[in-house]
Amino acid sequence: MLYFYPGPSKLYPQVRNYLADAYDSGILSMNHRSADFVSIVQSAVMLLKTKLHIPQDYSVFFVSSATESWEIIAQSLVKKGSLHIFNGAFGQKWAEYSHKIHQKSSFFPYSLQEELDISKVANDATFEVICLTHNETSNGTQLDRQTIRAISEKYRDKIIAVDATSSMAGIELEWENADVWFASVQKCFGMPAGLGLMVCSPKALAAAQQINDRKYYNSLLFLAENMQHFQTNYTPNVLNIYVLNQVLSQIDDIKIIGERTERNAKNWYHFLEKHGFDVLVKNPKVRSSTVIAIQDEETFIRNIKEKAKQAGMILGNGYGIWKNTTFRIANFPAITDEEIAQLRVFLQSI
Ligand SMILES: *Cc1c(COP(=O)(O)O)cnc(C)c1O
Repeated sequence: MLYFYPGPSKLYPQVRNYLADAYDSGILSMNHRSADFVSIVQSAVMLLKTKLHIPQDYSVFFVSSATESWEIIAQSLVKKGSLHIFNGAFGQKWAEYSHKIHQKSSFFPYSLQEELDISKVANDATFEVICLTHNETSNGTQLDRQTIRAISEKYRDKIIAVDATSSMAGIELEWENADVWFASVQKCFGMPAGLGLMVCSPKALAAAQQINDRKYYNSLLFLAENMQHFQTNYTPNVLNIYVLNQVLSQIDDIKIIGERTERNAKNWYHFLEKHGFDVLVKNPKVRSSTVIAIQDEETFIRNIKEKAKQAGMILGNGYGIWKNTTFRIANFPAITDEEIAQLRVFLQSI
């Protein structure tokens, strides 16, 4: 079966062996504070920074999911409120989680067909953190680099937090333009679910010191204190950290991966339009390079997913309000050119 679902998604084929290696190495039965495991954590952090070009002074934390990162940000970096800019289901969910914790959090929803107009977004003392979804997996939109750069310039006094769950390790990110980036590994990392990554700037950690939240097991300050020794306050996902370390040593530099992802995305959009598919996002400037959503009538969507399955391919369901009227195609790095070609042959036959 070929998997084009945008998370959980196709695993890098090497993962099969890494799982067996983890078992054989005995690491899964070792204490998570043992020197052997700590050195794996240290290596994974180092490789993440090298392969993904993360600035050396940024910190990496292991958590359990992107969803947990939403909550950590609200607990440890927000005092009054956060401002949420979104055009889809994941950004909205994040806003709703934050709102439960800080009633003063505000929302800036915008249309998925529009480029975000920063000049329309408020800048006042009601919020400390501005929350962006880099790649909106639910509808296949993406914030381009200029937009994040413009936000970073306009909001110098704020903490900028970016949900990069379905883009981190798929395309190059400009880390310096935000303070908190997070993702889970079941998207562009090509790994099994159950591990989240948070990448924080020194400014984010200074803000956490100021707020001094120490109420929760996953308070950012606890994560930071433990990570000084490459440890976590609770027993982490040892298996996935092991696999992450292996995957990171295997994959190309993000520059190479990102170029391929962006080239493949361009080819996908060209192919889909040429063959009469209705790409949900009309404006090429806001289209995602890692998740593509195609819309049609409910029966067509149901049928195409079913036929694809019979042909040995899993297409992604729609998500949120687009659940029944779109299907999605992941353009993640673990998917090979041969697999993409196979899906194209199928789509051309429809
Ligand atoms: C998948 C996804 C999430 C949720 O990830 P979990 O690992 O389930 O917490 C959050 N945000 C975006 C943009 C996603 O694509």
